[in-house]
Amino acid sequence: MAGAEVVKNYIDGEWRDSSSGGRIEVDDPSNGETIAVVAEAGPEEVHLAVAAANRVFRDRVLIDMHPYDRGQMLFRVADALEARSEEIATINCIETGKALDLARGEVRTAIRYLRYYAGLADKLEGRSIPRGAEFVDYTVRSPFGVSAQIVPWNGPLELMARSLACAIATGNSVVVKSPELAPLSGVEFARACETAGLPAGAVNVITGYGQTAGQALIEHPDVRHIVFTGSTATGRTVLKAASERIVPCIMELGGKSAAVVYSDADLDAVVDAVRIGTYLNAGQNCNNLTRLLVQRSIADELLEKVKVCVEGLTVGPGRENCDLTPMISKKQRKGVTEACEIALLEGARAVTGGAALSERSGYFMAATVFADVTRDSNLFQKEVFGPVLAVTVFDDPATGIELANDTDQGLAAGVFTRDIDRALWCADRLWAGQVYVNGWYVGGVETPFGGVKQSGYGREKGQEALDGYVQTRNIGIRISPPSSGEGSRAQSRTVTRDQGPSQAIALSDLVQP
Ligand code: NAD
Repeated sequence: MAGAEVVKNYIDGEWRDSSSGGRIEVDDPSNGETIAVVAEAGPEEVHLAVAAANRVFRDRVLIDMHPYDRGQMLFRVADALEARSEEIATINCIETGKALDLARGEVRTAIRYLRYYAGLADKLEGRSIPRGAEFVDYTVRSPFGVSAQIVPWNGPLELMARSLACAIATGNSVVVKSPELAPLSGVEFARACETAGLPAGAVNVITGYGQTAGQALIEHPDVRHIVFTGSTATGRTVLKAASERIVPCIMELGGKSAAVVYSDADLDAVVDAVRIGTYLNAGQNCNNLTRLLVQRSIADELLEKVKVCVEGLTVGPGRENCDLTPMISKKQRKGVTEACEIALLEGARAVTGGAALSERSGYFMAATVFADVTRDSNLFQKEVFGPVLAVTVFDDPATGIELANDTDQGLAAGVFTRDIDRALWCADRLWAGQVYVNGWYVGGVETPFGGVKQSGYGREKGQEALDGYVQTRNIGIRISPPSSGEGSRAQSRTVTRDQGPSQAIALSDLVQP
């Protein structure tokens, strides 16, 4: 990479190098080779980006715009991404390691988020509250100001698009810290914002490490809103910083999602859900299918089918559209192999896989299935974030639900059964932000998504997401009647203009905070 152009940060409508001269090398996870060098953002870049976003907010650049025009800006960003979608998908595929078709889907989804929230920008309304003849009262749904958005590497473009689109649609200005392991998609997003002619400073995209740029961003005194998408552990750090200044947060954290499979289930549908839910993107999805809870009478048959499917997955680089692509980094893979070693020590049985594919040059991990996983074990309880499935058998139907809910996480859950009564009974009892019936990843851009328990709070996707980007303010107006001769209503009132409204209100009528 000697002599390669350094990719810069997008701050206040300009491309800026790092003031410290720091550099971040970006790897191709399929072979470990450096594909780009990015200027590392530090506290100085954070400060410049927040200052620009704050200026846009204080000058009311986005707030005073007609909401329709804010929507039009987002449509233009979507158009700019679409015009280069194949090129951006290729960049996304190479930096994350994911399959090219999946990367194409990521670009399409990012575009859909932008268009979805663009269309909603002028449909967010307050309400008028009747309070009698002496008052006019209404609510406005105002932006927070500078929204700091921290994005993980597993879906760097689409996760950026989903939060940013909501923020801009509602009049917030944004500073995004894109992930240090996959920053190039965010750079392409910033280019699309530039092409779309967004006001300078409305969107700023910087790349730096979590402990430096990320920490400086969440601690910045002018940040008024945080959207954090990442691990539950880092989420705790973010919340501590946010609590110092009472900054509202949307927390999109990790998962340990389970599918409960009953004896009447379509087993081929379950296997298909495992293929996609557990192994897509090398298992590096927050809502991936990590635990398969199977009723005993079909357990052996299903496990055999799963084994055949998993051992048939093609392994190779994302650009070849293989089923099992590399993990994002050597470090991430090490965490997964360690989790596999602990699983064996805790008595789980490796049905297939369980180790790194070290003969390959990239960060490949074998597609892994463990059976006999007990509910108190590490593999049952802790997010692994890799291509590893934990299988546990149950007898009594209610135990399936109990097992599914028996972790601190609650991002997604699923049930497989042909019995509609049972499906609905389970859907109500599976304690997760999204519940899938007879499939996996059943949700879409328009369906609200987010965690319960330690998977976080606040919602992204769907119309509900907009609620997290505005704060309701109330405007109460005391009105005086016309001065004279304008009808009996005015004459009958106790308040006159001469007396002044303040003299008329009884202390006993006051509603205090
Ligand atoms: P991570 O928590 O390590 O990092 C996420 C982001 O936080 C990165 O940009 C990182 O630089 C930044 N960061 C790290 N330390 C920080 C700090 N002290 N202050 C501010 N920012 C900091 O997570 P990851 O490994 O990048 O991503 C995987 C995790 O993300 C998994 O747990 C996964 O489940 C979760 N995830 C959740 C969702 C969701 O929508 N719920 C979506 C995707 C990923």
